Amino acid sequence: MTKYDKILIILVVLVSLFGMYLVRERASNYNKKYVEIIVDGTEHSKYILDNTIEKEIEVVTDNGYNIIHIKNGQVLVEESDCNNQLCVRKGVIEEPGEIIVCLPHKVVVQITGSSEDLDSISY
Ligand SMILES: [Zn+2]
Repeated sequence: MTKYDKILIILVVLVSLFGMYLVRERASNYNKKYVEIIVDGTEHSKYILDNTIEKEIEVVTDNGYNIIHIKNGQVLVEESDCNNQLCVRKGVIEEPGEIIVCLPHKVVVQITGSSEDLDSISY
């Protein structure tokens, strides 16, 4: 191994560490989060998610109902009459990218986020 090989390896390690740092920064930079409720592939409703908003949404589909609760910056499916109860057992989600799926009802609850940069462009 030559001196340049070593420098190259150190560089690669540094760059990948920096990349990880950037990704983590990005994730914590979401200043706005949204809760999106999708039923059978189409958007049912969308709410801003923050610590002060509390909402209870009842989603009624042909297959049954889901009661979705937004509270303290977290979202959960509080109640459902689906047969596997996976959506209820999933518990709370709170970070962009997290998702609750109720397969029997084709209901998806997902959290999306936008960073400050994106917002300043869209205004
Ligand atoms: Zn379910």
